[in-house]
This record gives sequence, C-alpha cells and structure tokens, in this order.
Amino acid sequence: MIEEHKLLNGTRVASEIRAEVAEEVGALSADGITPRLDVVLVGDDPASQVYVRSKAKTSAELGMRSETHVLPAATTRTELEFLIDRLNADDEVDGILVQLPLPKSIDSTKILDRIDPAKDVDGFHPVNVGLLQQGRPQLVPCTPAGIMELLRRESIDLKGRRAVVVGRSDIVGKPMAMLLLHAHATVTLCHSRTRDLPAVSREAEILIVAAGQRSLVGAEHVAEGAVVVDVGMHRVTDRSVVEQLYPGNETKMAAFEKRGAVLCGDVDTTRVAPIAGRITPVPGGVGPLTIAMLMANTARAARQRRGSRS
Ligand code: NDP
Repeated sequence: MIEEHKLLNGTRVASEIRAEVAEEVGALSADGITPRLDVVLVGDDPASQVYVRSKAKTSAELGMRSETHVLPAATTRTELEFLIDRLNADDEVDGILVQLPLPKSIDSTKILDRIDPAKDVDGFHPVNVGLLQQGRPQLVPCTPAGIMELLRRESIDLKGRRAVVVGRSDIVGKPMAMLLLHAHATVTLCHSRTRDLPAVSREAEILIVAAGQRSLVGAEHVAEGAVVVDVGMHRVTDRSVVEQLYPGNETKMAAFEKRGAVLCGDVDTTRVAPIAGRITPVPGGVGPLTIAMLMANTARAARQRRGSRS
C-alpha cells in the first residue's frame, strides 16, 4: 500500500487533462472543427484490440471523432502504405496512430516514417523526434509527455536535480531523458548494459523506470526520499507471485480473486514505497496519462493544422 501523501496519482491527473482536452474540443467544434483520430490495427493481437477500443472510446467521450481501420495480419507493406497515404491526404483526419507491434513481415520504421509529421500523434516520426531533441517540441510521445505533466502538476521541481531513466526505448526512455534534460534536470540514461544499476539509480532524486522487467527496481535501487515513476506494466496471473509481491495486501488479493490477475510494474512497490518520497502506483499511475496525452496531442494537431480562435 502506498501512503496517501506519497501517492503520485496518475488517474486524477489524467482526468484533469481529459477535462481540459474536452474543453478545447468544445472550442474547436464551435469553429466547425471536430478533431479526428484514426487508429490503424493490423492483425488480431488481443492486447492491441483492447488498446485500440479504449482509444476510440476515450475519443468519443471527449467529443472527438475516431475511426478504426482493422486490416488482416497478411496485409502487405504496400497496402498499409496506401492506407497511410490516404489518411495523410484526408483533411478531416488530424491524428494517425498505427498500433504497435505490427506483424513481423512489415518494417514498422518505414510505416511510421510515412505518417505526415503534422498528424503523428504518437510523436514517433523522425521530424518530431528531431524537434524534441532540439528543444522545440511539437508532437511528443504520449507516455513521457504524460509523466512530465504528472511531475509538473504535482509540483515536483526538476531544475538542477539528478534524474535517472532506466530504459532507452524510442517510445519511452529516450524521449523521457530529453524532456527531463530540457527541464534542466541532470540526466543519466540506463539500459541493459549499465554496470551496477543499483549504484547508479540510487543517485536519482527523480527515478523513472521503463525497462519492461517485472520488479526490476527494489529497495536497493532507491535513495531515501526519491520520486519514483513506474512505467512498467505486467499482468500477473500466478497467485504465489502476487502473494510474494504484495504480502498481506488485502486489496491486491481481492483484485486477484475477482479478475484472476493483477497488474504490476517494473518497480517492487511494496519494498520501494517506504523509502520513496513520492511514487506512482500500478495500475493508476502512468497508464491513464498515456491515453490522456494521446487525446491532447490529437486536439493539438487539429488546432495546429486547421487553426482556430482557441
Ligand atoms: P522496451 O522493451 O522497448 O525497452 C526496454 C528498455 O529497458 C531497453 O532500453 C532495455 O535496455 C532496458 N532494460 C531491460 N532490462 C534492463 C535491466 N535489467 N537493466 C537496465 N535496463 C534494462 O520497452 P518500452 O520502453 O516500450 O516499455 C517499458 C515498459 O513500460 C514495459 O513494461 C511496457 O509494457 C511499459 N509501457 C507502459 C506504458 C504505459 O502507458 N503505462 C506505455 C509504454 C510502455 P537495452 O536497450 O540495452 O535492451
């Protein structure tokens, strides 16, 4: 259990962001512009289907239009490029999101490069990556952008502070490090070849963990009072693992009994929370922020492309 005063509540901040986006969508609509997000799903991966459905649902809740394009797993790169070209050319489409992972037969880099950077609401196009690096961000990857909003709205000072990011993916780690750097933190970026991770991560006043390894970060990785943000997301279906992760935690066990699984992160929250100054939970931390920022990026893309008095 995380004590209330330590909790970095992603669910609450995400709902603030969603309310602001809904307001902005209202202003755009008054100018005759309804932001539209098009999501492309190739194949029938069940997790991807869930993500795509929740993106469409949230778009509708905030007053945006959303179209989902479902293509069979056997789709060729040329066919997918044809769809991207069509969406790029359609003035009504403000945001294009290609759900990853794509089938192995398609080179995702080539597909992401094809998206019009002005509609690249995931922020993965090289133009958007370059603009972020230069400190003049346009569309920023949603997960790190959401974490920055969380830190800002929770009044966590970054200037001059030591930040450590664990994980160097293009989706989370690298853009996260860049955003922290631009916010004047002193940033260290760690990865699987980092020597003595606990010693490096203990230097962090702000520790962001996006390694995709369940419970990688334990008490020995965290300095007293550090702010810890856990990006990891793992579904645990083994009761003995749940008991080991959350000993004596009745809430978690009840959730497990109900759903047959619980979500946990890259941080061993039970052992780290007593040491940390602030910490995100899993679920209810970074996850809700990611989708809220996707909506914010779509509204932003609509405003920038089609203009409005708002
Ligand atoms: P990737 O697998 O693309 O990258 C993982 C990174 O972690 C790599 O850079 C890897 O190093 C590094 N790493 C792996 N093991 C270790 C280790 N033992 N010590 C130090 N570094 C290590 O993952 P993503 O960035 O896409 O995602 C990370 C996690 O965040 C996943 O659990 C994912 O499910 C979750 N996620 C959650 C989101 C949300 O909205 N909550 C959104 C996006 C991701 P190397 O480069 O050397 O291989």
